[in-house]
Amino acid sequence: MSPAEQQSAANRPAKTSAELLATPVKFIKGVGPARGELLERLGLKTARDVLFFFPRDYQDLTDMRSIADLEEDKLLSVRGVVEEVELRSTGIGRSMLGVLIRQDRLYLRALWFNQPYMREKFTRSQDVLLSGKAALRGGRWEMAHPRVQWIDPDEEAPAGQMLPIYPLTEGLRQGNLRGIVREALEAYVDLLDEVFPETYLQAKNLWPLRQALREVHFPANPTNLAQAQLRFVYQELFILQLALAVKRHGQETQAGAPKLEATPRVDARIRRLFPFELTAGQDAAIREIAADMNRPIPMNRLLHGEVGSGKTVVAVYAMLLAVAHGYQAVLMAPTEVLARQHARTLAQLLAESRVRIGLLTGALVGRDREELLGRIGRGELDVVVGTQAIVRSEAEFAKLGLVVIDEQHKFGVRQRAMLRQAGSNPESGRGLSAISPSPSTGEGRREGVAQQKGTVPLSPANPHCLIMTATPIPRTITMTLYGDLDISKLADLPAGRQNIHTYLVRPEERPKWWDFFRKKLREGRQAFVVVPLVEESETVATANLEATFEELAHGELEAFRLGLVHGRMPPEEKDAAMQEFRAGQTQVLVATSVVEVGIDVPNATLMTIAGAERFGLAQLHQMRGRISRGAHPGYCAVFAEVESEEVIERLQAFVDTTDGFRLSELDLEMRGPGNLFGTRQHGLPPFRMADLGRDSTVAKEARDDAKRLVASDPGLRQPEHEKLRRMVLSRYGQALDLGDVG
Ligand code: ADP
Ligand code: MG
Repeated sequence: MSPAEQQSAANRPAKTSAELLATPVKFIKGVGPARGELLERLGLKTARDVLFFFPRDYQDLTDMRSIADLEEDKLLSVRGVVEEVELRSTGIGRSMLGVLIRQDRLYLRALWFNQPYMREKFTRSQDVLLSGKAALRGGRWEMAHPRVQWIDPDEEAPAGQMLPIYPLTEGLRQGNLRGIVREALEAYVDLLDEVFPETYLQAKNLWPLRQALREVHFPANPTNLAQAQLRFVYQELFILQLALAVKRHGQETQAGAPKLEATPRVDARIRRLFPFELTAGQDAAIREIAADMNRPIPMNRLLHGEVGSGKTVVAVYAMLLAVAHGYQAVLMAPTEVLARQHARTLAQLLAESRVRIGLLTGALVGRDREELLGRIGRGELDVVVGTQAIVRSEAEFAKLGLVVIDEQHKFGVRQRAMLRQAGSNPESGRGLSAISPSPSTGEGRREGVAQQKGTVPLSPANPHCLIMTATPIPRTITMTLYGDLDISKLADLPAGRQNIHTYLVRPEERPKWWDFFRKKLREGRQAFVVVPLVEESETVATANLEATFEELAHGELEAFRLGLVHGRMPPEEKDAAMQEFRAGQTQVLVATSVVEVGIDVPNATLMTIAGAERFGLAQLHQMRGRISRGAHPGYCAVFAEVESEEVIERLQAFVDTTDGFRLSELDLEMRGPGNLFGTRQHGLPPFRMADLGRDSTVAKEARDDAKRLVASDPGLRQPEHEKLRRMVLSRYGQALDLGDVG
């Protein structure tokens, strides 16, 4: 605040709640300028920021025990003195840290696996407070990976409560932060406004904001904590779902699309082009798409099907439906290679028809490009295949009826919005400004967008939109991150595909597996050996891979020609190694991850995945997909380095399940969403508290609730929804292009 501003603030009779909540952190009691700077390093600038600085964890001290009273399988806390610290190596990159804790004459051993850095946190005769589940092993108490609190010897152990654990920065201790948060709660929490209408909170049995905030920082017990967290998780997911529902509603009500009917005659003419019977899944997807396109509102559909499930044919059907009605269609691929492949497939399929196809990628430049753009603009091309270059090219379509985007996961929500705009008509309304604060700014913005993109779309209406992806994504995630889309699923693969046999090979059976592996190689097949990238340092990982390579080259696979591919290789070397493998000069390719290898080799039907527990199930599934391309059945073996019960259970699920979607759901249940399904890669701000793995039930509920609310108040214009509307706009207005945030 400048002195002048301070002056004027002082002259005013009283500050508003919003102004008070914007108080700089250094003015919070007990902070001051020095600590204020430390807080800023944590991203905390104002009192409000501190209130919403959620603990990353808690230490549950509600059940303090003496070692004599320990019980198994219960969350307990124990205070004691560090007696002995021992770090042992248990294999390459593995370790076990044992910390012996004494309480009078009784002992408890705390254990940490593969966290050698914990060693430095303990010194002898320190007082510590441990929380966790104890287990009796060989007559001695152990606690694996307990929470720890280091305390002064004369300090009274905080008991009977749950202590928040905050993210820290150098120079700031947990105790400091706890004090600061307490002060902030005391002074500011009552200034916060509730977002939800009172009746809504009651109906949903959600805690009011202030109560939830107090308990999320200092929960009285685990039950209260769960209630408090639920309130924020629900709010977070609900606001996102509201944003998606508003966007969707806008698209459906305001933007007109051409009504393209699949009459029996059109349908028969299209199907005649396909050289095979469609699968039941393809037929169902086509029915859904045809129904969408037969409405005067734009289709927004995600076609979700595993690699090889035959999505292209479905897309071709939709494109030809548009063409049959005199409209143009666009097919966008994430890479140049895929775009070319699509163009080839289409050209073959449509060789007998009069459909005119163009290919527009970044590689097309100069006169050729001008010429192609001209033909698109004059409506002399029916189907345009290409990459993102289409969006950037200022292509003006004469009459665009359909946009198909292949491999959606490479395109974020924002690119999707841009694409639609590229083919949309400004006159028909953007549909998304429904909740924009004032119609006049909405108007100005519309022009701005058109200028910025350099497009003056000429189509008479908005195009339909079909998005395709092969990434196995769990339902909760699709529902959340693609909440603005309808979904069709291709669950079945076309008949006649080769099976893949998958085995979990335990150490004692490995010699037998390698025997089989060699036999198949001698029959002429090729193989992948996948080694996970386990180390933090890429140098170490590469060394690991090279060691494995040497081991195989001088051991199990001595008699065969081996190739090596990893991320650190210069591109030419990588290409060369790939080329040799494709040409059959090398028989076995040892690689960090086959995903990286990228290209399909039909003769490769064998795969050994070492350290398989390091990969997610969906990822394993995608790797295994590489060996189902040819005329021979595939054989995939997974080895685990660490064969814990949990690992065996997970890998057994992989062996037993061939459905990628099911595996992705299992992944989510067992490992949580991690960054695999992060919101950020979809162009959305990250969640602060929601976890799509844990909170799938809440996510579903929030979605249903949001749909209902938007159906009754599409622009969130009712006074009791004002705060929700502001929140939706400030959080997702930009990412989802909902209109001017003002
Ligand atoms: P993806 O879903 O991975 O894009 P594609 O559309 O590329 O799959 O199809 C994979 C292969 O399966 C292609 O060679 C395609 O011609 C073939 N295919 C698609 N549908 C069928 C079908 N119904 N019967 C037989 N083969 C099919
Ligand atoms: Mg495809």
